[in-house]
Amino acid sequence: MATHKVDVAVVGTGPGGYVAAIRCAQLGLSVAAVEDDRPGGVCLNWGCIPTKALLRNAEVVNLFHRAAEFGIRLKGFEADYAEAIRRSRSVADRMAKGVEFLFRKNKITLISGRGTLRSATVVEAATATAREAIEARAVILATGSRPKSLPGVAIDEQRVVSSNGAVRTERAPKSIVVIGAGAVGVEFADVYAAYGVQVTLLEALPRIVPVEDEEVSTQLARSFSRRGIALRTGARVMSVRAGAEGVEVETDSDRIQAEQALMAVGRAARVDGLGLEALAVAIDRGSVKVSPRMETSVKGLYAIGDMTGPPLLAHKAMAEGVVAAEAIAGRDPRPVDYGNVPSCTYCRPQIASLGLSEARARENGREVAVGKFPFTASGKAVALGETEGFVKVVADKGTGEILGVHVLGPEATEIIHEFAVGRTLEATLEEIVHTIHAHPTLSEAALEATLSALGQAIHI
Ligand code: NAD
Repeated sequence: MATHKVDVAVVGTGPGGYVAAIRCAQLGLSVAAVEDDRPGGVCLNWGCIPTKALLRNAEVVNLFHRAAEFGIRLKGFEADYAEAIRRSRSVADRMAKGVEFLFRKNKITLISGRGTLRSATVVEAATATAREAIEARAVILATGSRPKSLPGVAIDEQRVVSSNGAVRTERAPKSIVVIGAGAVGVEFADVYAAYGVQVTLLEALPRIVPVEDEEVSTQLARSFSRRGIALRTGARVMSVRAGAEGVEVETDSDRIQAEQALMAVGRAARVDGLGLEALAVAIDRGSVKVSPRMETSVKGLYAIGDMTGPPLLAHKAMAEGVVAAEAIAGRDPRPVDYGNVPSCTYCRPQIASLGLSEARARENGREVAVGKFPFTASGKAVALGETEGFVKVVADKGTGEILGVHVLGPEATEIIHEFAVGRTLEATLEEIVHTIHAHPTLSEAALEATLSALGQAIHI
């Protein structure tokens, strides 16, 4: 068996693993990375990137439907779903090749195979035909997560599909029941609805995107309903029966038939089959326990990303990868600020949020000032014809500390970052409003919402 001797072995090359590997290489460490799928992991190949390409297609299709608003007369048009999937695949392939390029540039050895820990410092990479070993001074585990299902429901990727299967299926169903209205559920509901699929979105909790601020859920629900997406909240799915003709989804109050069901009830950390039990690595509620330096309970063994628990977000994994790499290189990394991780969902209108919802801030006993600015009052949004949504700022009334920000609307996922930087710099409402925002921009809505929290909004 070939043995590689390196400073650091990385298991998994998703956004956590590849960023950790590159940061290690930048810090002068030799690195070998093991991957059992394709470089880039779920994010680049089956998750964030291909879905963003599909959502862009959905946006274009929706714009074509609105052509008359812009004075463009179309004599009908055809939106080819198979072509949308092929475009999405080529976007994903291009980004995965980018990771391979970055590995070559940084002289990182990429080994194909399933990585297993033989000890805290030896990783074995196995394919069906070959085995290689990596002896390392430190190991970073970054094996990510996989879609969860409901008890007794098998994801066959035919009738009952996961996001992983949905991004590669070139035929859109005529009807689909989306189970779960978290990020995956609302993003796919948006894509399918744009392509004329009859979508029913089921959510066990009382509102869609239940982790977001309540006003975000309410307005998104209104927007989805207008586009013909059937919403059923407070509907817990009990069983899914798949047959030759389609699926029957049974909730606690109803039965719904459709051609397919999409399982979007969350993801589970991939911690099995890695050899963690033999090393007695501490696990807490299914996720690997780590220190602020991302070290597991075993010295020299690090874990990052989805496998370490929520939030299950690529950018959180990347930030953790940098911390792990710097810790291994003997630096003193600044721990990840988990209170300031932006959460972004790319349905239309987009959702982006940071920190506490208004309700949570009040529950925490804070006296809050809330500022809100609707995109209907933004010149840029009106010019774009994208007026759904708002920016909402939740701040401490006494100090002006920004406790939470909630954006629903055009480019929400870009607008959120000024508040992320602001919070890192401990900016108050006053400092945000003292910052000149260019006119006309969507970011002015951030300024106006902040002004509104101070009772000084100009444009509403
Ligand atoms: P999620 O946990 O965000 O949402 C799952 C939803 O399913 C919840 O609202 C839950 O109440 C509901 N649910 C659970 N059991 C149910 C049942 N029996 N019947 C009806 N509803 C039920 O999970 P997800 O949307 O699958 O996403 C998985 C992970 O991936 C999340 O952590 C998410 O943040 C991440 N992700 C992020 C993005 C993004 O940032 N744009 C996109 C996709 C996924």
